[in-house]
Amino acid sequence: MKFLEERIKSEGIVLGSDILKVDSFLNHQVDPVLMARIGAEFAEKFRHLQITKVLTIESSGIAPALMTSFDLKVPLVFARKQKSRILNNEVFSTTVYSYTKQSENQISISKKFISANDRILIIDDFLANGQAVQGLLDIIEQAQAQAVGVGIVIEKAFQKGHQLILSKHIPLFSLASIDHLVDGKVIFSKKQEQADVKQR
Ligand code: 5GP
Repeated sequence: MKFLEERIKSEGIVLGSDILKVDSFLNHQVDPVLMARIGAEFAEKFRHLQITKVLTIESSGIAPALMTSFDLKVPLVFARKQKSRILNNEVFSTTVYSYTKQSENQISISKKFISANDRILIIDDFLANGQAVQGLLDIIEQAQAQAVGVGIVIEKAFQKGHQLILSKHIPLFSLASIDHLVDGKVIFSKKQEQADVKQR
């Protein structure tokens, strides 16, 4: 997705060797036109998988996930980051280690909104070590639903998440794949190894 790469090159801010800030269009201010293009790309890639729900985690996953669900005409459900005190029997929940905040979050989804009949597409803004996606997969398993694909806006292919998802044989499609970050620059991957988005 050339236009996303261009946007990352012109507006992304590299912090050290492992964090990319894209606050001007994805993580703080949100560009709705870009989100619509992103949603259309994901929808086109995954449409044949009979998806019934799109799943993400608040808050930065919501914008791309919403546009994807809009194109697929299925509901979006986002996992909430809640304090464990207010969790109850009505929710599926798990613990996720936050890469950027370096702390653990309890995430939860109401049992009302995900069930064993669901075929779920996970969408998130970034893929680093795969903890956020792993947390959502854990919840999908609790609900006895099926994870049929993972769509990531920006993946850092040099971290563990990419291989983690491939090892689970879940189709992974990333719109921008970063090979490494060096001297304040973003170097994109030349060829992406992605799990095939075939019929599941
Ligand atoms: P993971 O769970 O894969 O280790 O990390 C993914 C989550 O951490 C994403 O949902 C995203 O919010 C956040 N994250 C990880 N790496 C970055 C990054 O380089 N930049 C930003 N803005 N967020 C990141």
